[in-house]
Amino acid sequence: MKPALAMGAGPAPDAALDASGSAPGSTTAWPHRHLLDTDVLTWPQIELVLDTARHMAEIVAGERPRSTALRGVGVTNLFYEASTRTRVSFEVAARHLSADVVNVAVSGSSIEKGESLLDTMRTLEALGAKVLVIRHATSGAPYLVAREFGGSVINAGDGRHAHPTQALLDLATLLRHVPGRSLRGRKVVILGDVLHSRVARSNVWTLTAAGADVWLCGPATLVRGFEAWAAAGVGGERRFTVTTDLEAALRDADAVMALRIQKERMAAGLLPSLHEYAARFGLTRERLALAAEGCLVMHPGPMNEGIEIASDVANGPQSLVTEQVATGVAIRMAVLSLVTSVAR
Ligand code: ASP
Repeated sequence: MKPALAMGAGPAPDAALDASGSAPGSTTAWPHRHLLDTDVLTWPQIELVLDTARHMAEIVAGERPRSTALRGVGVTNLFYEASTRTRVSFEVAARHLSADVVNVAVSGSSIEKGESLLDTMRTLEALGAKVLVIRHATSGAPYLVAREFGGSVINAGDGRHAHPTQALLDLATLLRHVPGRSLRGRKVVILGDVLHSRVARSNVWTLTAAGADVWLCGPATLVRGFEAWAAAGVGGERRFTVTTDLEAALRDADAVMALRIQKERMAAGLLPSLHEYAARFGLTRERLALAAEGCLVMHPGPMNEGIEIASDVANGPQSLVTEQVATGVAIRMAVLSLVTSVAR
């Protein structure tokens, strides 16, 4: 890892970013006009996002004035699925960069009259959108839009496929807490409804790129299909482990990320009942005791407390859940800044 940028030791307040949209002094080139998943990111590019986000965190903390990097740039949040933290986080991030933010309320818009995704995109583009932040229930929808849109598309979650800014904020949060700021060889468990989780998929790319020993764990019906990916290796090389054995997964773990049971995407028959799931796979204090001392606890939210995670674990001293949310703003500022630095 590059050393963290010295807090407060940067350039004059308004020069928060260099001309490339990244943290001052960075040498890595950023080539991505869109951010649709983490699979396209090299490790230096991931580090660039993290370095830039560390710089952005100074603006969020009020140590630097708001940046003018995106002044006059239209950022439109187009969320076809429910969201609190991701949508608000993108909005706050865009405002910290002085962008003109528009939130499209899907309910009450022409989308309800059946307007297609591409027609909606063209309408928003004609109204000045330069960045489209899209959440959609269909995997791949942001890719379709990115093919036609003149500006930048950021995927804020597509179906069960990808959620790149969540994975980046998870990585940034974890790295802040591991000794030496390195995940190399650290055991990170992603637990629960892996099958429906775009968070899990995007995290597998970033966590294995960071050198973590990644384990996916859940009932057989909810980890199905991942064994083949694990055996082939991420990017054809980086292995990870898939198991239904919760004890084996938790033993000596350095971090556990519990996933929400996604009832809205769950086909009948995948789980006998939520009660049974909680009894067999819920992250309780007793189970967490199997992990390494001080094991970090994460959850992308929204949490079903008492189902995938017990309340005392979710709100306990090892929990990074609130910090994940806060970190999301700086990460999204970094991503907004980087993608808009790439000319068409
Ligand atoms: N908020 C995350 C997502 O949109 C996780 C979840 O919904 O369970 O994917």
